[in-house]
Amino acid sequence: MIFCKKTVIVLVIVLVVLFLLFSPLFSGEAYPAGNKYINNSLLNGNIREGEAYVWYLGHSGWAVKTKNHFLIFDYSPMGSIPAELSISNGHIEPFEMKYQNVFIFVSHAHGDHYDPEIWKLEKSIDSVTFIFGWQPEKNKSHNLHITEPRTKKYMDGMEILTIYHEFDGIPEVAYLVKVDGLVIFHAGDHGSTGEILNPLFKDNIDFLSKNSNGIDMAFISQFGSKGGGEVNKGDLYTIEQLKPKVTFPMHRGGGERVYKKFAQEAADKGAKTRFFCVERKGDRFFYQNNMKK
Ligand SMILES: [Zn+2]
Repeated sequence: MIFCKKTVIVLVIVLVVLFLLFSPLFSGEAYPAGNKYINNSLLNGNIREGEAYVWYLGHSGWAVKTKNHFLIFDYSPMGSIPAELSISNGHIEPFEMKYQNVFIFVSHAHGDHYDPEIWKLEKSIDSVTFIFGWQPEKNKSHNLHITEPRTKKYMDGMEILTIYHEFDGIPEVAYLVKVDGLVIFHAGDHGSTGEILNPLFKDNIDFLSKNSNGIDMAFISQFGSKGGGEVNKGDLYTIEQLKPKVTFPMHRGGGERVYKKFAQEAADKGAKTRFFCVERKGDRFFYQNNMKK
C-alpha cells in the first residue's frame, strides 16, 4: 500500500514535469516565463467591424485594436518602466504584438510624443509599419511612411488623412484614420488655447469635418485655456465640428485626475460627446460604433 502511494506520487511528479516541459509545444504558444499577458485573449480574440479595444499608454499614447489592425499613437513611455511590460500596464511588449498587424503613428518629434526606442519594434514585431508626420533624422526604414499635409494615404485597407501645423516651430500633424468601420482622430499637439481661435487651427478642423461626416473616437490634447479653466475654445470647436461619439482627453500624463474636470466643464459648455477619462496607464475601453452617446 505504501509502495503504491509512493509510485503514484512519483508518477504524478514525472507527469507534471513532462507537461511543464512540453506544454508550450502542444499549445502553440510559448510566452517568456514570468510574463502575465493578461489581455492576450483580447489581443487575439475576435472583434467586429466598428468595434475597438482602446488602451491608454500614458500622456498622448494610445493603442487601438480594431478588427484587422493594431494602431499605436504617440507612444513615448516616460517615467518609471515596470519590470514586466504589458499592454495591461500601458506598455508595448513585442511578444504580445506577435500576431498583430501593427501601425505606429507619430505626430511630431517632441519627446512626449516620440521615443526613438520605438524603432526597436521593427525587429521584434513581424508586421509593423511606421507612419510619421515628418522625416525622422537619418531614418531610412522601408517600413516608414511620411504623411504629407492634407493628403490622403491608403494602406492595408486604411485611409489616413493628416492636418499640418508648426505651432511650436517644428512640423507636426494630426491624424484622421478610417479603419475597420471606425473613424479615429488623434490630435497630437494640435490645439488652440487663446480666446480667439487660431485661424489655421480652425481651418484644419473645418477640413477634417468636411472629410469625415462624424467620427467615432477623438483623442484630444488638453492644454487648458489662457482665459482660465480646463476647456478652451479649440476643444469645443473640435468637438462641435467633428462630432466624436466618444472623446478621450489626453496630454496630461501624471495629472490624469484633471480629465474628469475637463469632461464636466466641456459638458457644461455644451460639448455633445461621451467622455472616456483614463486614470492610469493600461486603462482599457471597449467601443462599438452603435453605442449611445
Ligand atoms: Zn505634446
